[in-house]
Amino acid sequence: MAEPAPAVSSDTLRFPDKLYEGYVFDLDGTIYLGDELLPGVKRLILELRERGKKVIFLSNNPTKDPEMYSEKLTKLGLPTPKEETVNTVVTMTQWLLQNHPDATVFPIAEEPLKNALRDAGIKMSENPEEIDIVIASYDRTFEYRKLQIAFDAIWFHKRAMLVTTNPDRYCPFPGGRGEPDAAAIVAAIEACTGAKCEVNVGKPDPIMLKTIMDMIGLDAKDCVMTGDRLYTEIRMALDAGMPSAVVFTGETTPEMLEAETDENKPEYVLDRIDRLIPQQIWEELGWTEDDE
Ligand SMILES: [Mg+2]
Repeated sequence: MAEPAPAVSSDTLRFPDKLYEGYVFDLDGTIYLGDELLPGVKRLILELRERGKKVIFLSNNPTKDPEMYSEKLTKLGLPTPKEETVNTVVTMTQWLLQNHPDATVFPIAEEPLKNALRDAGIKMSENPEEIDIVIASYDRTFEYRKLQIAFDAIWFHKRAMLVTTNPDRYCPFPGGRGEPDAAAIVAAIEACTGAKCEVNVGKPDPIMLKTIMDMIGLDAKDCVMTGDRLYTEIRMALDAGMPSAVVFTGETTPEMLEAETDENKPEYVLDRIDRLIPQQIWEELGWTEDDE
């Protein structure tokens, strides 16, 4: 298990006093750090599932299949079905099915997104004369040929719109390095075409949560989004009308939260994630902060 976060003064913290119907979670810094589950994660998720609550784990990364996240969580000791993991492969596919089911798309993407689009029956093409939507994503096989196809479809044939899976500039790696992410591909296409990317289906755009609410059949107000970053998952929840909780196990510190204006703050502030379970239920279950 990871080291517990340092003690946070109790007047900063605000815990929910009721259960919600659905729980949406960021992964890194919220559920795990590196290869360790954070304190309280396992018993929280098991308890929520036991009570019939909907649990969804979110990621912006479109280079992985949702299965890969369930495998990682399962390997860390939290067996998780793939239906509980949603990344931008899932939200892009769902967004297209809901809004442009008959469009012909050109995904600048790795295999997981292309496979999902194929499985969903979405038409794909590399012919600029028939492309309606260019999807720019985190694609480590990006090359000049793909840029030319996007350029021809958007600028020369004046027919395609530009959308993206996620707005991240780079994907951080443990140890401080990283990789150029989808924003770099979007910028290359915008630079040569003069077009603007019209849709983003990843955090912090509320489209991501709206797409998930459509998939699971719940209202945003009946769910709570929990994450460690104010400007991604908390921003998205505020914009989608979903209650939210920041947890101090990742990026955000109590000082960073205090520096924010009220309209950027979440309803709930947690030092450990199992505080999503109301105090009364902690007492019924005999939970203490010493065990996990
Ligand atoms: Mg995070």
